[in-house]
Amino acid sequence: MTEKDKDEVALQRFVEYIQIKTVQPEPDYDSAMKFLKNYAQELGLEYRAVTLDESRQAALLTWPSTSSTETSIVLNSHIDVVPVFEEHWMVPPFSGEIRDGKIYGRGTQDMKCVGIQYLEAIRRLKAAKYEPKRTIHCLFVPDEEIGGVRGMGKFITLDECKALNIGFVLDEGLASETDVFQVYYGDRSVLWIQFLVKGNTGHGSRLIENTAAEKAQFILNEMLKFRANEKECLEKSEATDKLIQLGNVTTVNLTKLTGGVQQNVVPDQYSLYFDCRIKPDGYDAFKEFLHDVIKRTPKENDDEVILHYVQDSGRVCITDVEKPSWWLNCFKRTCEQMKCKTNWTVFPAATDGRYLRGEGYPAIGFSPMINTPILLHDHNEYLHKDVFLHGIEIYVKLLENLTNGESAYVIQLPSGSFKSPAEAAESYLEKLEKGGAKKTRPFQVDLVSYSPSITNSKTVHVLSHSEYPASSFAFAEQSNSQMLVADNTFIALMNKLKTLRAFETRLPKMEARGTRLEYQDFVINLGTVSQSQTTKGLVLEVAYVPMDETRDGYCLIQEFLQSFLNMPKQMIQKLITEQLSHWIRSLKDKKDAEYTPSITLLQYMDILIHMRKQPNE
Ligand SMILES: [Zn+2]
Repeated sequence: MTEKDKDEVALQRFVEYIQIKTVQPEPDYDSAMKFLKNYAQELGLEYRAVTLDESRQAALLTWPSTSSTETSIVLNSHIDVVPVFEEHWMVPPFSGEIRDGKIYGRGTQDMKCVGIQYLEAIRRLKAAKYEPKRTIHCLFVPDEEIGGVRGMGKFITLDECKALNIGFVLDEGLASETDVFQVYYGDRSVLWIQFLVKGNTGHGSRLIENTAAEKAQFILNEMLKFRANEKECLEKSEATDKLIQLGNVTTVNLTKLTGGVQQNVVPDQYSLYFDCRIKPDGYDAFKEFLHDVIKRTPKENDDEVILHYVQDSGRVCITDVEKPSWWLNCFKRTCEQMKCKTNWTVFPAATDGRYLRGEGYPAIGFSPMINTPILLHDHNEYLHKDVFLHGIEIYVKLLENLTNGESAYVIQLPSGSFKSPAEAAESYLEKLEKGGAKKTRPFQVDLVSYSPSITNSKTVHVLSHSEYPASSFAFAEQSNSQMLVADNTFIALMNKLKTLRAFETRLPKMEARGTRLEYQDFVINLGTVSQSQTTKGLVLEVAYVPMDETRDGYCLIQEFLQSFLNMPKQMIQKLITEQLSHWIRSLKDKKDAEYTPSITLLQYMDILIHMRKQPNE
């Protein structure tokens, strides 16, 4: 498929998706699910329909990783779109008509574009024979536009969600009218409230005491005073501090006011409805403010002013973007690579991202649309096809960076102060578990060395690692050759050569056996090394899964060892300088410092050979 063909098919799928009327209040979810199922088949992705309730499903399109248990990336989008006022549209809103390069239709910005961009990025990566080292899930959920309670709100409660082992989530953002991409790390709380005020009633010709209207007036004044303050705060900051944006203030709007029955009767009650969007960290204070307003409202009895929460999203969680993390580094690095300027801010409304953040998953909102007017929920919503296609390129790079590589580090742990290596292993294990690491399964690394029977030949070390069950790793001693990665039949071949007396296994087999543990993005293999039933020492492999640049990973792993195993800095430094400095040096010489499992196996080889030479304790 040529680049042009890929663009064509991407546009075609985009238009097809727009043409499916997933419009609230009666979205055609069935057709959308069918479309996504076919799409998955076309791309060679696993497809699953996750049932949320009798009339709702979420579609999960999965590209499984080539490696085992790393956390996954979730690319989320919602299937539904908001209603249209057809008479205000230049083209039929569900046609996907393209005029002057602009694709028109409901959902072109919010957010069918993003859903298609995820999948088309995957099509391109697959065409390039890329293999992700992290599983990628494309999640399509219903009902975002009506609050998501029965959509994402339900999904996060299911075992299917927990089973995804989510590491990082991408969700929707907003278009940007400039050349700066908007990146959202949180959204505001949504609070829809109703004040019901009651008072004395009577004929419209009298001056009755304690009326509902006086209470309504007081509350309205207080609420609008609050609104004016926030507005001023935003306007002032726009001139001085660009960091305070709409997402960082609380907005309050009177959206409905009802009451009264007849022109000449003083109403006994009014209802005032407000749509309030509360800035992060402002939730509790805002509720306090509401109760204070009620307290101060002039009234004879407390039951004359009733506050009712029509919708309350609760406190919102923010994804901490101050703390460095693999995905954040990765996202920022990708933006640099793609020459994308970014502005990190709080989403002015609420999206499904809040449910995921609430569960503790880091999530950011990002819709790659620059130089585009914000037309979500507006008439004549469109997206220029060049912006749409460029977005696919951005996701290609993002997915590649987010799903490739890991960085591992193998060291010999000191066991001198313990009675035995076994006892030392117990103690280290305890420390790791106390710190929150979870045991997952046993692990094992074996080293068999084949010495040549014929002179002039070289010793061949063959290693196997339980995390790479289908591979064996071979290294010819004293050669500058690379490590050979072969399948399991290689060991059978070596043993055959042994029976032919080309090689013999004079040197004892070395075995590392122990436990695999996981802690967030770290994978830890802790094991005791034995040689012919004699314990020789301890070995620890720490892998920092998400890092594709091996040297960066080392720094984090050093930190991990220091804090987790409670090791003195000096000891860590000793371990690093003595055991690993040459790895780091050799990587520095290499232009391509990308991690491969061979690097880990080379480190094991070094340690195991070193231990073999050590006298038994
Ligand atoms: Zn949306």
